[in-house]
Amino acid sequence: MKVAERFDVTKIRQDFPILNRKVNGKPLVYFDNAATSQTPQQVIDCIVDYYQNYNANIHRGVHALSQEATDAYEKARQIIQQHFNAKESKEIILTAGTTHSINLVANGFEKFLQKGDEILVSGLEHHSNIVPWQMLCEKTGALLKVLPMSETGTLNMSQFEVMLNPNTKLVMVNHVSNALGTINPIQEIIKKAHDFGAKVLVDGAQSAPHLKADVQALDVDFYTCSAHKICGPTGIGMLYGKRELLEALPPYQGGGEMIDQVSFEKTTYAGLPNKFEAGTPNICGGIAFGRAINYMNEIGFENIQAYEHELLLYATKRLEEFDNIIIYGTSPEQKTAVISFNFEGLHPYDVGTLVDKMGIAVRTGHHCAQPIMEFFKIPGTIRASFSFYNTKEEIDLMIDALKKANSMLL
Ligand SMILES: *Cc1c(COP(=O)(O)O)cnc(C)c1O
Repeated sequence: MKVAERFDVTKIRQDFPILNRKVNGKPLVYFDNAATSQTPQQVIDCIVDYYQNYNANIHRGVHALSQEATDAYEKARQIIQQHFNAKESKEIILTAGTTHSINLVANGFEKFLQKGDEILVSGLEHHSNIVPWQMLCEKTGALLKVLPMSETGTLNMSQFEVMLNPNTKLVMVNHVSNALGTINPIQEIIKKAHDFGAKVLVDGAQSAPHLKADVQALDVDFYTCSAHKICGPTGIGMLYGKRELLEALPPYQGGGEMIDQVSFEKTTYAGLPNKFEAGTPNICGGIAFGRAINYMNEIGFENIQAYEHELLLYATKRLEEFDNIIIYGTSPEQKTAVISFNFEGLHPYDVGTLVDKMGIAVRTGHHCAQPIMEFFKIPGTIRASFSFYNTKEEIDLMIDALKKANSMLL
């Protein structure tokens, strides 16, 4: 893959006002993109435009503002539908984010599970794709099984085949690991799970910023992501579900918007997607989510992937200059632009604190994936995660800061 000639990172950086700020007197180097991405002016403008010009509640009023807001919100749903290639916009539920989406599905499956059923969760998951399933197992008596990972931070696929059986009802896996960047073989996982009649939920929180997933081509049952990791605002995300599955699942929350008729004798629910969107939603967030997806597509995912891969290779090469470095996970060929590492003899937290003083924002800790840290028997890692608006010069600044931190701490 090659970065297109017209990919101009200097120009792209001008879209992100925050990249001009200083931290501790130093230019900000933002390498915590896997936790949240920065917001381009185009999305900020979209948010301002909503509040300045057509802030109103949706689906309720016949007045002009309410209709404009409703149209913009539903337009955003279509943008999301087209981006992920869902068959119908009804299959796109706007949620508060990945965590909310997973809880929505986990809650609904209580109706379909019983003692003896099995739920398979990959060993590479974020806590938000572990805990809701543990809660579901507690309620239903279903058994939670963990698909193991290997030293390279990849899933053990031969073990997957051994673990699948007719009792397997659900399989949960992230498309890309947030802690290590591993790209998981979800196509294969989905196909094998379907052979046993199991449904698959893919957590796309870390793939959505880097690659375009086609839910129909994948034949995935549920797919979810958060807007704030793909240049949108926090508190909004989406859940894709196959129509017949979403229709079968019971509603998650009760309230306004999600009903058809309400009486004290019996309430009937609205159809999709409203059934799962109780209460006044994050209207502005939804509209801005659509704008963010358009923004990413204007840059182009092929460009994003090719450029980020260059950054990943460069950062890996530069980090390997340290003779006490340990990099966790797989080779750059099988991951997105994330590097999780430690220095022998140094605590990740100490390194992170020191480099922050030098303006470098990296994440330190367990990255909401404690089982992965347990696997490597470490308290946490330093994680540098790159975006298409980062540069090699910024990587050089990080390396300089890490060298200083090493000499101060060792
Ligand atoms: C960030 C993240 C989540 C949680 O997303 P929220 O926006 O906090 O709900 C879940 N899974 C993965 C892989 C993530 O990276």
